[in-house]
Amino acid sequence: MSNECLISLPGNTCTCTADKPIAFFLYLSAPLHSHMRMGLSPLNAHRHSYNFINNNVCLLCSTRIENTFHYFLKCPTLANQRVTLMNRVTNILLMSNT
Ligand SMILES: [Zn+2]
Repeated sequence: MSNECLISLPGNTCTCTADKPIAFFLYLSAPLHSHMRMGLSPLNAHRHSYNFINNNVCLLCSTRIENTFHYFLKCPTLANQRVTLMNRVTNILLMSNT
């Protein structure tokens, strides 16, 4: 396996161990994943639904409500990161099928 972390995005320094990047990513993302599914994440739509903030609009693009769907699939500001993530996930899946 390459020493390059498969999870970190360009420009971000990854602190995970190179031989177990997927396990480390899953370890870190599990609580946030649960919070997103339950509507308790730091996303503005979730915080707005509990009256923690007054505005549910995405601060990255200011065009839509910042909910889970928008954050992961639609926010134009995150388009490059989304493409990078999908390419890396595709590579991981392709490597696991060989
Ligand atoms: Zn947005």
